[in-house]
Amino acid sequence: MNKISIIVPCYNEEEAIPLFYKEVNKVMRKMKEVKFELLFINDGSIDNTLKEVKELAKSNKEVKYISFSRNFGKEAAMMAGLDYASGDYIAIMDVDLQDPPEMLEEMYNIIKNNEEIDCVGLKTDEHKEYGIFRRFFTSCYYKLVSKLSKTEMVPGARDFRLMTRQMVDAVLELKEYNRYSKGIFSFVGFETKWISYKVPKRVAGSSKWNIFKLFVYAIDAIVGFSTVPLTISIVVGVLFCFISIVAIIFIIVRTLIFGDPVDGWPSLVCIMFFLSGIQLFCTGIMGAYLSKTYTEVKRRPIYIIKETNYK
Ligand code: UDP
Ligand code: MG
Repeated sequence: MNKISIIVPCYNEEEAIPLFYKEVNKVMRKMKEVKFELLFINDGSIDNTLKEVKELAKSNKEVKYISFSRNFGKEAAMMAGLDYASGDYIAIMDVDLQDPPEMLEEMYNIIKNNEEIDCVGLKTDEHKEYGIFRRFFTSCYYKLVSKLSKTEMVPGARDFRLMTRQMVDAVLELKEYNRYSKGIFSFVGFETKWISYKVPKRVAGSSKWNIFKLFVYAIDAIVGFSTVPLTISIVVGVLFCFISIVAIIFIIVRTLIFGDPVDGWPSLVCIMFFLSGIQLFCTGIMGAYLSKTYTEVKRRPIYIIKETNYK
């Protein structure tokens, strides 16, 4: 009998947990041909999330929990889940029911009945809940990332997915500290089938993302999966050296022919501003890689567990 592990990262989700369990339970009862393991990761919640999960675990033996010592972020929570999950198939699902549990059956049937498919992922083509501003930047961003990086990033991909044990083992081989899982799942390869769906509204609680966090996450993706920006800064540097040589020759020739009238101060200031801007930008790019290298070499744990009922 196959076993599916469902990893559920939770951060301040006390209201969503009972609602989520109710839905997931329906699915578990319906899919009689498989065993389930429900792995809640309490990512340092400051509300009653852990209490709710423990309550569930008391009466349902398939419910497991891992509770972090503080908030480590969803990436860390997913990693912990993958580390501990014992199933033959492993799913990652949000607790806010934006990843509808009833889709699991369809996903399982696809992965079960197609030898060549190792992962079923969910993506959305609709972002109606986002404003025009965010939609525009999201689409530009995905174009940019796919140009910069050899790793394919699917636009609108959710974290909701069902994977085979083999693929999860491959993911676990990537032990980096700065984790951008959309990139990691794509990096390991394997055959992923994408299903489109319309993301429903959150059942309870509120989204943990804001513009600033999204921006940092976006930078993580680029720095984590591409070194092209470093090359771009070299190209820009070489280009400007070349332009300056041409300019020097031009000025020498002009002075020889027309003498040396002292003007051109405003243009000089503009050039200075422009070039210092470029320099700072390139230093910033290097800084971004350096800081990632720095956090990487420290080899700090990705998460720290305070308590768990996992044996
Ligand atoms: N989450 C988490 N740690 C965090 C932030 C979020 O484990 O630091 C969980 C959260 O509880 C939820 C999932 O990640 O189950 C997705 O979060 P959210 O719904 O806020 O993201 P959105 O759906 O808005 O992208
Ligand atoms: Mg959500």
